This record gives sequence, C-alpha cells and structure tokens, in this order.
Amino acid sequence: MRRVGITFPLACAIAGLLFYSFALIAPLLEIKAYGRFAMAHIETGPLRLVSSGWQIIGALVFLVTLIIPGLKLGIITITLLGIETHFPRRPLKILFRWYTMLSPWAMIDVYLLGFLVAYTRLTGMFTVHIDTALYALIGLMMAMGATDAGLDQEIVWRRLHDTETSSRTVGLHALGCATCGLVNHAPENNRCRRCDAPLHPRKAESFARTWAFTIAAACLYIPANIYPFMNITNLAQTQSYTIMGGIAELVNAGLWPLALLVFFASITIPLLKLVGLAYMLISTQRGHSSFLQARTRTYRILDFIGRWSMIDIFMVSILVALVHFGQFANVTANIGAICFAAVVVLTIFAINAFDPRLMWDNYEEPAI
Ligand SMILES: [Zn+2]
Repeated sequence: MRRVGITFPLACAIAGLLFYSFALIAPLLEIKAYGRFAMAHIETGPLRLVSSGWQIIGALVFLVTLIIPGLKLGIITITLLGIETHFPRRPLKILFRWYTMLSPWAMIDVYLLGFLVAYTRLTGMFTVHIDTALYALIGLMMAMGATDAGLDQEIVWRRLHDTETSSRTVGLHALGCATCGLVNHAPENNRCRRCDAPLHPRKAESFARTWAFTIAAACLYIPANIYPFMNITNLAQTQSYTIMGGIAELVNAGLWPLALLVFFASITIPLLKLVGLAYMLISTQRGHSSFLQARTRTYRILDFIGRWSMIDIFMVSILVALVHFGQFANVTANIGAICFAAVVVLTIFAINAFDPRLMWDNYEEPAI
C-alpha cells in the first residue's frame, strides 16, 4: 500500500478521537423485558463486573476497550501534531515508543464482534434496541484501522530524529532496535541513537519467560473449559454455561456462523497458540534449522490472532451490563471467565516474550 506521509493518519486519528468521545457518552444498547427497561453504555459492563466482585475481568475489559484505545489515539495525535509544530523531540519519542507497545491491546474491533454475539443472544430473550454508541464504535474502529494503515512508522521516526548520521564503528555489533527498527552499531545494553529504547541482541531470558507464560496458560486452559463461564437466570431458573455449552446453545438456536466464530475464537485459537508456542520453543531449543520461514510466519500469525479470543469475555461484559432484572432475568460472570481471560492475556505475554530471532540463530548457510 502507498503510504501518504503524516497528514492522512493525523486526520484519521483526530476523527477517531471524536468517535471515541461520542462512544463514551452515548448509550450503546437498550432492552425491555417484564415491563422493565435497561440501558448500557460501553463502560457499564466493566463497571458492573467490578461492582459484582469480578474485578479482574472488569479491569481488563475497561483497559482494552476504554483506556488503551483512547491512549493510543491521544499518543499518535500529539506525536504527529508535535512533528508538524516542531515541538521538542525527546518527549515525542518517549510517547511514540508507547504507541507500538499499546497497539495490540486496543481491542475495539474484537469488542464489536463480542457485541454481535451478545446482541444475537439478547434478541432471543428480549426486545433489543441498538443505540448511537454502536455507530460511533464502528467509526472509531475504521478510524483506528485507517490511522494504522496510513502510518509509516519509519517516516515518523525519521521526522523525530532529524540529525540522522551514520554511527558505524569498526568492532561494534550491529544491533537492530526492536522499537523503531534502526540498525545501531553499538555495544550491548546501549540505547538506540534514534528512539532511545534499550538495545538487546536478543530479548532477555526469552526461553524461560515464554515457557513460564505458556505453561501457566496451558494449566488455566483446563479450568477455563471445565468451569462455567457465566450464569443466566430466566424466570427464576438459573443455568450455568461453559464455553462449549454457550457454543452448543448457539448451534441449537440455528446460529451456525456465530457458533463457528465463537468456537474458532474461544477453543481453536488458544489451543493453536499453546501448541504453536510449545513447538516453536522446543524446535528452537533443540537447534532445528528446518522450516525457518514457515516457523517465522507461524509466529506472526499467532501474534496477530491472539487478541481475537477476547470475543467471549466482551460478550459476557455486555450481557452483565444489561440483564439484571432480579429473579426474572439476570446474567453474572463465573470462575471459568477469569481462567479464560487469564489464558488469553498469558498467551499474548508469551508471544511477546518469545524472540523470533532465536529461531534464525540456528540457520546454516547452504553449502555452495
Ligand atoms: Zn530505536
């Protein structure tokens, strides 16, 4: 795709901030049941999760749907405006380093899929009315996508570091900066001359940290699937649903595409990530040099798909926000949801802890 400088991403980021502000204040969904009425904003779900004792899930949903998308848009807007107005570069560099780090944790796109699943479940039980915040969220998702697509980070780093000079020094290592991509010729544990991030030949303790996160996630994957994910009370009858139970219910209701979507996001992706991580760790530690390109591609795919597992967590946060009619109808989270959220977060940490360059350390030059 042709990149278009910084004006286009700046305009998209400002549009995104407008959509974001509107999504915060406008109502998202309304339902009517048993002569009562309930309305939810985007923040209602996480706040209700916190107040009903599920602080960890509530805080996680609050962070990835409200705080981080706002931070991400704020950071890129200030950085690009700062470049245009010749603001001092040092604080802008620190801000822009955070932009890349926060990116995978801004989950408006995944939240909208969770919304779709929640909406479909609600229409089976109540009269549901979609409100204006949904359209603001769709606008926000598109604005964030356009900002990322139009943003050439290399151009931003060059504009932030005007005095580009070669610092090649004989005898020093060539170290690629993991933050801005610049190749530095510097001793280990030095800082990147362009973005000031610490330089490491490989991520510190990569194997140990990746194994720790992967094993912890694998242990929690079992209770995440065995224990109930949420409780649904309807006319004084309470039923508990596991992840598979929720999928079976979608199948029974004839909602095959949604059932497949949730099955892929909640069962297949976490399992693929666990198996993929274990394979990458074992093959790399054993010094295997085969299929390096395919293994690197697998790493990138696992990195990309991991966040989509959050669909079910977002679905629960929306149901909890709306369905609280006492003994008539009520939805609460359950212990399986915490285990599942932990699996998603831990596998994202594991992917981040793994250094794909370690795979290429086993590369052998083909004999001529
Ligand atoms: Zn750098």
